[in-house]
Amino acid sequence: MTWQRFTMVDWSGGGPGPARPKKRPSDKIYMASVDGGQADPPRYIPDRVAAEEALAARISAALDAGERLFIGFDFPFGYPQGFAKAITGQSDPFALWAEIAARLPASRHSRERIDVAAGFNAHFPGEGPFWFDPFGKGTVPMKKPARFPVQEWRKAESQTKGAFSCWQLGGAGSVGSQALTGIATLERLRQRFSGKIAVWPFEPLEAPIAFVEVWPSLIAPEVAARQWPDEPKDAAQVRVLADAVSRLAPDELEAMLDISAPEEGWIFGLGHEPALKAAARQKRLANECFALPAGERRATVDEALALLKTRLSPLTETLEMPLREAAGRVLAQDITALRPHPSATNAAVDGYAIEGRLGAGVHRIALAQGRAAAGAPSPNPIPKGHALRVLTGAELPPGARSVILEEACRIEDRHISFEGPIPDGANIRWQGEDIEEGAVALSAGRVLTPADLAFAASIGCDQLRVRERLKVAVLSTGDELCEAGEPVGPGQISDANRPMLLATLRRLGHEAIDFGICGDDRQTLRATFDRAAQAADVLITSGGASAGDEDHVSALLKETKAMALWRLALKPGRPLALGIWKDMPIFGLPGNPAAALVCTLILARPALARLSGATLPEPTAFELPAAFSKQKKAGRREYLRARLREGAVEVFASEGSARISGLSWADGLVDLPDEAMNITPGTRVRYLPFDGLFS
Ligand code: AMP
Ligand code: MG
Repeated sequence: MTWQRFTMVDWSGGGPGPARPKKRPSDKIYMASVDGGQADPPRYIPDRVAAEEALAARISAALDAGERLFIGFDFPFGYPQGFAKAITGQSDPFALWAEIAARLPASRHSRERIDVAAGFNAHFPGEGPFWFDPFGKGTVPMKKPARFPVQEWRKAESQTKGAFSCWQLGGAGSVGSQALTGIATLERLRQRFSGKIAVWPFEPLEAPIAFVEVWPSLIAPEVAARQWPDEPKDAAQVRVLADAVSRLAPDELEAMLDISAPEEGWIFGLGHEPALKAAARQKRLANECFALPAGERRATVDEALALLKTRLSPLTETLEMPLREAAGRVLAQDITALRPHPSATNAAVDGYAIEGRLGAGVHRIALAQGRAAAGAPSPNPIPKGHALRVLTGAELPPGARSVILEEACRIEDRHISFEGPIPDGANIRWQGEDIEEGAVALSAGRVLTPADLAFAASIGCDQLRVRERLKVAVLSTGDELCEAGEPVGPGQISDANRPMLLATLRRLGHEAIDFGICGDDRQTLRATFDRAAQAADVLITSGGASAGDEDHVSALLKETKAMALWRLALKPGRPLALGIWKDMPIFGLPGNPAAALVCTLILARPALARLSGATLPEPTAFELPAAFSKQKKAGRREYLRARLREGAVEVFASEGSARISGLSWADGLVDLPDEAMNITPGTRVRYLPFDGLFS
């Protein structure tokens, strides 16, 4: 049994969400699809009415194309044994579906679902099974029933950890409301596409459309490892699950669907977790991930960057490591404050704590016994009308709200005298004023700086979940190349790109692996690609990327049907060959060193960041006056080797991309826009210092 199209849906039982998703988390509806091996980014859908229409459109499109569509939904399709009979008089789950749909019409809002549950509860003597009214109206009991009139769990759930019961209608993570609203929706779709939809495991999946119950928590660690830094969890769940299910071999899929659960239904993949997890762990990027939009016009740099951003996802695994070793690593999980910072209200200076604000004029206050110092336990309250000696960092005694600076006080006769006014909170660091307990301190995807370690330590963190470094193999290609330092024969040159690229990758925080030089020979190159696919996550080659006779990198990649030759509207502008070799992305850079470096910094750098799980870094840029003249043509982006002298941007005398000396001469690049530009001294241009591009 095979399907060409897959969709996974994260359903919602509640009311409509905002028109656009909040950054995260969002508990509304997400839908992700993989059609013919090509993944679509997850779609956010704010409410159920819109979702029903989106599903109907997916179904119609598959039927029109004559293709089979597998749709997974994350709510139970059936109830524990006996419930259907209690409500409908039959043990047939579809009788229950029809009953639910009849009682719960399509609606964006859904208080009705609680009334429907209450109506079902009324079928039972005493308390019914449904509980937890999220609106707090007590329409159904607020507390879990002491005794359920039917089983609390289906067989499937009794074999899982952390599942919620279909009877629980509210509370974080609950699924009861989702099941009611979801089943009503699916029943309407079944009627609308009568005979075209089969529901698993209640019917043989012979119809072109299959509805299947799924539960993303079965692959929770795999989802966490592949979640993009700025991606809501629900979106990642459906994306990774759609991808995983679409990759299952036909016999694996067959085995997972081979279940008898005629009344309660089952969770797809339950009992086959290793196979499902393995499919979710595969690092393969979509074959078409480098395909540029078709058309006459060359793609712009911005179009290419947007495409890399949406099509590439992290390839790296996650691991825990002690905070002190984690600088430079990509954070794999948000860091939330385990305690507030400051952890207690304390003195910002050495001085005297008083109860609060004081008006203008000279004040004289008696000193209390003792003192409060940093590291000492919380002091006793200050006696009324007194001041207490405190040192910087000391926890303030209860009741104290200001500290007078030591230098501002005169001490005599166990009294301090000082000039007012003193505002409330003077020289005090309030508990939690830096960050509150439970707040997100640092977000996943961040490359940890030394300062981040201080921040994480101060809020109680010790072990951090980070990502493995991205392993990037570097290979130079060309019969003319010799190792640096070797004597060069006639027609030969030293390999300049490899040392440059290896060093660049290390500075970008990746693990660079030296794959040496490969001559212009198809078979050797093939074997080298195979070895790299074993050892590395990504391969970067230079040379041989165009479409000429000796351009073997692009010729070889063409065999994989997963290759794209990028001729961008870009200068230095030789084509790039991008492809997937045995699940490993390859960036085939042009051979000219200047072109190779520009393509690395402008295109490969953000792409590698994405593959490493890091948030896409925007290069540091300054608008500065030019110290040169140039008539720039329209229709391509240009990056010139540049440097800053006396506040103005100079460019290297030659724009020829083989001029390696210009790379060393430069401290950065000038980034000239796609449009035409008439540059004279003083014209403002965009300058990108290498410092911001190499990190
Ligand atoms: P290709 O992209 O293979 O056509 O090479 C373009 C130009 O870059 C040729 O002049 C090559 O000799 C030169 N080239 C290729 N690879 C390197 C390298 N690793 N170091 C220096 N020059 C190179
Ligand atoms: Mg060559």
